[in-house]
Amino acid sequence: RAKSSKADKICFYEPEMDEAVRARRSLAGDLRDAIASDRLEVHYQVQTSVSTGEIKGFEALLRWNHSERGYIPPAEFIPLAEEEGLILRLGEWVLRRACADALTWDPAYRVAVNFSPLQFIHANLGALVISVLMETGLAPRRLELELTESAIFADRDRALHMLRQIKSLGVSIALDDFGTGYSSLETLRSFPFDKIKLDASFIREVERSPQAIAIVRAVLALGKSLDIPVLAEGIETEGQLALLHQEGCDEAQGFLLGRPATLPDILEKAKGRVVRFAAGR
Ligand code: C2E
Ligand code: MG
Ligand code: MG
Ligand code: MG
Repeated sequence: RAKSSKADKICFYEPEMDEAVRARRSLAGDLRDAIASDRLEVHYQVQTSVSTGEIKGFEALLRWNHSERGYIPPAEFIPLAEEEGLILRLGEWVLRRACADALTWDPAYRVAVNFSPLQFIHANLGALVISVLMETGLAPRRLELELTESAIFADRDRALHMLRQIKSLGVSIALDDFGTGYSSLETLRSFPFDKIKLDASFIREVERSPQAIAIVRAVLALGKSLDIPVLAEGIETEGQLALLHQEGCDEAQGFLLGRPATLPDILEKAKGRVVRFAAGR
């Protein structure tokens, strides 16, 4: 009896699973075409100094404008690209685009580019960064790589070796989504990061949760004693910005300061130089 009901279930779910697999394959095919035909876009989000509101740089965020489905968020298609073996090409494309775009804005502003853990495992990232910098002529100090701890977690020795090589070029390295990984403190101990990006989940709660404030304070203190500047991600309210200012946070990023936008919109915004500074509390 149990056996037959199990068989029934398998029969029942099979067509749906086929459907899901087909949909996924077809989306992967579309992504392959989109990479080949330059139909992906890079949008940029401003990063500012908390105390002065000055623009420090822009983070490159990949966008896929699908011909039938409209904008598909990176949270959906980056994992797809990783599973379908497209992430190396995608990562190379974004780096090239972002470095070329950065040449169109004030040389005082850097560009931050996200990297997938798989780029550390399967690609010679150092060689790629060197060749893109040479091709575009972007000064290495204007480029910042953003990576999460999972990039290091996968193959620690290889990742650290590659990071050292990239850092020796003068490129800076930011630890993204800090606080959400497995071994944050060990990661900080073994590599001299140039920046810690404190994950938005802590910022979201900071005005109402004493625990969140305590964690934010502890991370800022850690940054101070290790001499690594901290950027707070996901700032949406004046209250959050004021609080981070009061606690001595270095940089900020979030919808309050600017949503991700197209290059022309960003160039317009960059003319102002100062976005918004915290008034204190
Ligand atoms: P991330 O690197 O942590 O980027 C920050 C994400 O938070 C972005 O989402 C940004 O639009 C969003 N965000 C910024 N400020 C706010 C805010 O105030 N409130 C809220 N609710 N969200 C805010 P997005 O663009 O959807 O990207 C999601 C993730 O996809 C990124 O997280 C990054 O991990 C990944 N990603 C994006 N572009 C690339 C890329 O070129 N390569 C790789 N490997 N990953 C990328
Ligand atoms: Mg990032
Ligand atoms: Mg992040
Ligand atoms: Mg993230």
